[in-house]
Amino acid sequence: MSEVENKEGPAEEEQKDYVQDGRNKYVVKCKFCGSKMLDKKSGKYMEAEKELPLMRQDNNRKEGEIQSETIKEFYHVENMYTFENIGFTHTVANHKYLSCADCDAGPVGYYDMDTKHSYVAISRIVHS
Ligand SMILES: [Zn+2]
Repeated sequence: MSEVENKEGPAEEEQKDYVQDGRNKYVVKCKFCGSKMLDKKSGKYMEAEKELPLMRQDNNRKEGEIQSETIKEFYHVENMYTFENIGFTHTVANHKYLSCADCDAGPVGYYDMDTKHSYVAISRIVHS
């Protein structure tokens, strides 16, 4: 009798040190001012590919151009009242961008107006 090790499991089985039981293990804060956005374990870790405008746009970009990057990891928050602090910036199509309620840094994620769910980009916050 031996346990068969399955090395071809799905990628999300990979252990992230900031994720515990599929949720954020640490408090989620603004990178810039330290404002608390989410309490521990209040966001569900998920992987999805989504374009978000850069937090700092290059001054040399073409007029009207919006520079963006693909974000691959998010915390999914079903109820926006789960947030300790969060702000909204502009609305694009069916979603609003999330920003820091204190210093306006953003977008740190987006809010889907159809499902009313929020998605916080993990690369744009800090854990503490
Ligand atoms: Zn902030």
